[in-house]
Amino acid sequence: MPPVSSVRPLISAEAIQARVRELGAAISHDYQGKDLVVVGVLKGAFVFLADLVRAIELPVAVDFLSVASYGAGTESSGVVRLIEDLSLPIEGKHVLLVEDIVDTGLTASYLLDNLATRRPASLRLCALLHKPARCRVEVPIAYRGFVVEDVFLVGYGLDHDQRFRNLPYIGVLPGRE
Ligand code: IMP
Repeated sequence: MPPVSSVRPLISAEAIQARVRELGAAISHDYQGKDLVVVGVLKGAFVFLADLVRAIELPVAVDFLSVASYGAGTESSGVVRLIEDLSLPIEGKHVLLVEDIVDTGLTASYLLDNLATRRPASLRLCALLHKPARCRVEVPIAYRGFVVEDVFLVGYGLDHDQRFRNLPYIGVLPGRE
């Protein structure tokens, strides 16, 4: 496992926090007076979600689900498995699905289809990062933090082999540029 010092910073903690505040303000504006449930996709979204909900000035509910993609390594296999489901029903609620990164789009697409069957009042996606170069399924991202190049990123929730999620910034892992 490479040391933390070898990760090349790409998006600073300050830049992330500034963008998260903007996203929070936009969400607060758009969902005023609505019953909003913010759904985080574990594990990658946990850091982003924690900051995002604190930037939303509404009485939001928070829930989580956990997914795994079959296949090892850093490539999404495209076959998504729901490991842990929501703790509460979302029928009639305004749901905002929060992802760390939309890469191929397969995970977000699967989850949006799955959640839509539960008849929420509305359903939108918020992703901190978007890697359009690797898109396999077009997913509408209502709230997007940053567009990034096709490099493997770690930090701020993103991992390599379960490590580096704790970095307060987003960086590129050496050898993966
Ligand atoms: P997708 O299904 O290909 O869009 O990818 C979804 C998941 O793959 C994300 O939620 C991440 O957990 C993981 N992922 C994709 N790209 C990266 C990356 O650059 N670094 C770390 N994880 C990534």
